[in-house]
Amino acid sequence: MTAGERLRRLLNWINLSTLLGLGTAGLARCSLHDGPRGLILAHGYTWPLPKAAAFTLGNVVLFRPESARLAANPVLLGHEARHSTQYALCLGLPFLPLYLAAALWSLLRTGDPASRNPFERAAGLREGGYRERPLRSFRPRGYRGRRPRPSQR
Ligand SMILES: [Zn+2]
Repeated sequence: MTAGERLRRLLNWINLSTLLGLGTAGLARCSLHDGPRGLILAHGYTWPLPKAAAFTLGNVVLFRPESARLAANPVLLGHEARHSTQYALCLGLPFLPLYLAAALWSLLRTGDPASRNPFERAAGLREGGYRERPLRSFRPRGYRGRRPRPSQR
């Protein structure tokens, strides 16, 4: 573990986000395993939300049973480790409402909660298994730009 990863682990303990992750994993009856980069891997998450195959709370990465193989994917774990760093940078729990607002913004702009979500973009869309979707147009169908004003007489 690097010095930065040790610092992130310490900060996420202090800011309570890792405790939230361990509490969620415990209530959801997940099994816990030490992972790389100071992460804790929680297997067997079955609650309905969030819909993601894997998600991160502090230094805890929770996996759905059908997604257990993702825990061996270093690219995805790198993505989740960047989310863990984002928790530390947001001082822990404030990350959650900020992430939710960013996901809603992205959903409005693209129909997808990740494509324009700055947290997902910073963590790596492709590494997280996302495909970038184009921006939606807010213009009505058939709209072709402003029409010239009728000339004044
Ligand atoms: Zn992500």
